[in-house]
Amino acid sequence: MKWLNRLAALLFGLVTVGLIRDFLDKHTVIVFDNQEEDDKDEEVDDILNLKPDNYDNAMDLRGTPTHVCACGCNIFNLKVIFNENEIATYFLDMECANCGSLATAPTPVDYIEGLDN
Ligand SMILES: [Zn+2]
Repeated sequence: MKWLNRLAALLFGLVTVGLIRDFLDKHTVIVFDNQEEDDKDEEVDDILNLKPDNYDNAMDLRGTPTHVCACGCNIFNLKVIFNENEIATYFLDMECANCGSLATAPTPVDYIEGLDN
């Protein structure tokens, strides 16, 4: 009886492996990581979290006005002054929201026609 049970278990295992192989040949299995989705939602939800986790890759790029950081990010943190619901003035030193590098904010005077400012 002991051998009969082992033989039955072996046959059941072989049949199961065959069914799984057949299923995987016919279908594509996609696995989603729910935890990663939750992490992304938390990052997008709060604008105050739009700053670098650390400043290990930060550089001082001040001097030439720019729209894009060396890391490719085009979002900066800078200080502004409002007047009549509009930005009246802004400080030229700004910080990249991705890597924390310091850069110089562009002004209308810096605009050069024909160049990709
Ligand atoms: Zn950057």
